[in-house]
Amino acid sequence: MDINSTSLIPLHQTSTRKRLDNKRETICIFGTGDFGRSLGMRLLKSGYPVVYGSRDPKNTTLLPSGAQVFSHAEALNTSKIIFLAVHRENYEFISALSDQLDGKVLVDVSNNLKMNEYPESNAQYLSQLVPKADVVKGFNTVSAWALQSGSLDASSQVFVCGNDNRSKQLVMDVARSIGLTPLDQGSLLAAEELEDYPLQLFPMWRLPLYITAGLTVFFFLYYVVLKVIYSYVVKNTDQTYLIMISIPNHVFPIVSLILLGLVYLPGVIAAFLQLYRGTKYKRFPDWLDRWMLCRKQLGLVSFAYGFLHVFYSLVKPLRYASYWSQVNYVAYQVQKNTTSELKMEWAWRGDLFYAFGILGFFVFCLLGVTSLPSVSNTMNWQEFRFVQSKLGHVTLLLCTAHAAVLGWNKFLRSTRYKWGLPPGYMLSMVIPCIVLILKLILITPCVDRMVTRIRQGWERRRNDSGNLKV
Ligand code: NAP
Repeated sequence: MDINSTSLIPLHQTSTRKRLDNKRETICIFGTGDFGRSLGMRLLKSGYPVVYGSRDPKNTTLLPSGAQVFSHAEALNTSKIIFLAVHRENYEFISALSDQLDGKVLVDVSNNLKMNEYPESNAQYLSQLVPKADVVKGFNTVSAWALQSGSLDASSQVFVCGNDNRSKQLVMDVARSIGLTPLDQGSLLAAEELEDYPLQLFPMWRLPLYITAGLTVFFFLYYVVLKVIYSYVVKNTDQTYLIMISIPNHVFPIVSLILLGLVYLPGVIAAFLQLYRGTKYKRFPDWLDRWMLCRKQLGLVSFAYGFLHVFYSLVKPLRYASYWSQVNYVAYQVQKNTTSELKMEWAWRGDLFYAFGILGFFVFCLLGVTSLPSVSNTMNWQEFRFVQSKLGHVTLLLCTAHAAVLGWNKFLRSTRYKWGLPPGYMLSMVIPCIVLILKLILITPCVDRMVTRIRQGWERRRNDSGNLKV
């Protein structure tokens, strides 16, 4: 039977079909479920004639208008490209069509419910069922809803992989012409990774969020002990109201500074490790690799906490408790008929504290902006490194100075160690100070020269002509 013969096409579709045939080649979709229908709708809107292959062509409903539907065997004769919008569990039917699929491009769009559910990827399994077809994996990261609504809520990127380059190009052309951005991911071996991709929930964010949650809870409880419980037990005063603004405004900057330190600590550890090993050709330990991979996320959470600190600090003068203590102090001076003198040290300290804070936050904002892909894409590698490494360390220095000025010489007073516990700002400075000291060592000319040589490929165990030292 000739599927292209107009006798099979309903009359109202004939003129449309002829018009479209001149523009784009027919696309065949197996499966009339959610994904198949949405993809068909999108293809039709982009000018592709769409033919469905279904188990029960006579009883299919809800198909986009303009599409045709036949049995699988009939439908696949109409097109070079066949999208398989069927779950993997139902792939067996395709084996019977193996000969007809010879030389055709079969696009596997499937996902699984769990990671590593099967020994091989769905696309590889499909290529075993129909070895004569060119199987291409793709479109599995786009949802049926996004295709149907037209406005892609999530990313419009379509990852594509396959063993035959020409087939892959055909599928990428289709993706491009329906408004998606195809990205070539290599051979069909990459299919496993592509199938895992939609099952992952913010994989790079997990570790930073766990660290942030742990630090936040720890420092919140730490400050509840220092500010609320200590006051209640030792002074018999109720300070519970501090839980809403004052304590969070201690916790956010402390956690933000620690996280910022954690962004730059793995870089200096890696540099010292390379110095110690005398080569860059040895793998870093897994924990360091994982840590380095989530530095951007750690930095963004640190930035978010810094932002919260700014907001919480701005509302401080509006609080009833601050207003009350200021009025009370003035009333006390009036009562005693005294005025306090301007203490130059305090004035300097206050201004330095705010200046470091404002400048630190300003440079931090620059770092945040340059981490946006739309901005970082406009920079070359050198510029990106300058901003993220040099300006990053300047941010760390300014924010650490902000915390240090807050503490000033208070760390010398024993009264500041309630129940022997150091104030939180001191704890927050430990990691940043370690990073800054190590960085200072690394930028001294002789160490910097050695690190640069190693990063350019020099190895201690080889002499300068590249031979192994014995
Ligand atoms: P669905 O609504 O359940 O549709 C699956 C279609 O497969 C059915 O409508 C049916 O079409 C066909 N089918 C069912 N059993 C079959 C069998 N035994 N033999 C042959 N064909 C059979 O599923 P879906 O949501 O469209 O998903 C289809 C594929 O797209 C899946 O592999 C899924 O992982 C993938 N995907 C879906 C989405 C999404 O957002 N839904 C996103 C990305 C990828 P006929 O009755 O016409 O034969």
